[in-house]
Amino acid sequence: MRDALGLTGAALTPGAQRSWWLREALADDPGAECPPLDRDITADVVIVGGGFTGLWTAYFLTELNPKLGVVVLEQDICGGGPSGRNGGFASGWWDELHGLVTLYGQEAAVRSCRAISASIKEIGEFCELHGVDAWYRAGGYMYAITAAAHERLCEEMVELAREVGVPEELRALTAEEVRTRCASPAFRGGAYMRDGASVQPARLARGLRRVVLGRGVTIHEGTTVSRLDRTTAVTPRGSVRAKHAVLAVNAWGVGWPQLNSRLVAWSSYIVLTAPAPDRLREIGWTGGELISDFRVSLRYFRTTPDGRIAFGGGGGRARRTVDDMFTRDARAVAETAEGFRLMFPSFAGVPIEDAWGGPIDVSPNHLPTFGRLADSNVYYAAGYTGNGVAPTRIAGRVLADLITGSDTDAVRLPMVNARSRAFPPEPFRSWGAMVVRRAMIAKETAEEQGRRPGFVAAQLARTPRRMGYLLGPD
Ligand SMILES: Cc1cc2nc3c(=O)[nH]c(=O)nc-3n(C[C@H](O)[C@H](O)[C@H](O)COP(=O)(O)OP(=O)(O)OC[C@H]3O[C@@H](n4cnc5c(N)ncnc54)[C@H](O)[C@@H]3O)c2cc1C
Repeated sequence: MRDALGLTGAALTPGAQRSWWLREALADDPGAECPPLDRDITADVVIVGGGFTGLWTAYFLTELNPKLGVVVLEQDICGGGPSGRNGGFASGWWDELHGLVTLYGQEAAVRSCRAISASIKEIGEFCELHGVDAWYRAGGYMYAITAAAHERLCEEMVELAREVGVPEELRALTAEEVRTRCASPAFRGGAYMRDGASVQPARLARGLRRVVLGRGVTIHEGTTVSRLDRTTAVTPRGSVRAKHAVLAVNAWGVGWPQLNSRLVAWSSYIVLTAPAPDRLREIGWTGGELISDFRVSLRYFRTTPDGRIAFGGGGGRARRTVDDMFTRDARAVAETAEGFRLMFPSFAGVPIEDAWGGPIDVSPNHLPTFGRLADSNVYYAAGYTGNGVAPTRIAGRVLADLITGSDTDAVRLPMVNARSRAFPPEPFRSWGAMVVRRAMIAKETAEEQGRRPGFVAAQLARTPRRMGYLLGPD
């Protein structure tokens, strides 16, 4: 059965299954069993969370010291969270220059972007080295202008790259150049960032799991950590007493007092079409580019080797805890599908076969921070704000270096132990996020349709910036 938006089967019941990526990865290789923890054990390092952050941390720890006892505790299965649900955009940070320069100054901003560029390349090298077939494809990242109001944003983004001395990293594209890479009637011009690779994210997460297991890391899946007593992780049927603990819990950080004030949990959804390689050829989208628009309520899309489009962008709802809304929001799926149909009318006859969602950990600066909690041996990485595929590898490197006391370039990145603004307390935080989101969508929809946004919506959408957060429109 297909509904009016072409949604079929699994797509109509988001969250009734794992993401398509994860099902595909598990069918290829279910991996070794990692049963739940059922007794008290000890370790050098206990890591809470088996996504990219936790697994890269385990990877780098074992690289630095193969003798370290490392235990990963994951409430679901590794890659069951956003690491196995995301769009698979391993993208550069050159489009984040404005925030980075504002926070850390020009030199540190460029250094941070270069670290992300290296991370993207190294993910490909990791896959090659360890035989992880994560469909890695370095096709770059194209920004597409879909509203006149975005032309200025595009110019400013390209201009800033020029100002800080890296014009080769971001260059403007004419409407014709955009059409050559991907012909959508919605695109009016854009920009190209050469740093960008697509991955099958669940294959990467499960590949990392295989590699760290091979290095002697212990993983207990189906094991929820209820609290940390200093560096002892407490779970329902056992505990891990360790010298160091890592909180790698992403948006679930809203439930941890150590991280709560710097995060909002925000939903994001993806729809996936049936394979349609001929249609992709017709619109010229064969270069593997990652693509997004300029909206704050971002729409982002990429292709797969068998000719599907994965299109993200619905959701955007905030919650105080990570609940069902993040995986079973049928309205968000319909909104995402609507966005897809708008941008790719030539795919009208192609069904949308799957859909899924997950939580993202929005930070006050739109950028993550990594570090050590004050007066403790507890480490964290949080605030990826929906851009974690490349940064989590750096987070893992940084946390491993901090834990082992290694003095490296990674620990001197400006987001390491950076002080971050706090969000207002609940219930104002989720309530405020909801009001601002509605205003942003109203503003951006009006702009896209060539209308003038309403005064109230335009003002409300700017509230976060006026409060000093690096979020939302100027
Ligand atoms: C729909 C969607 C699309 C996205 N698209 C992109 C993209 O294209 N590019 C990009 O760069 N980023 C994207 N992101 C963001 C990206 O997925 C994340 O930033 C990244 O995966 C973060 O990795 P992580 O390991 O920190 O978090 P996660 O993958 O969320 O891992 C955290 C893990 O901790 C576990 N956990 C939580 N609490 C506990 C507990 N108490 N006990 C035990 N385990 C616990 C969770 O089950 C989870 O598996 C997207 C996110 C979503 C949801």
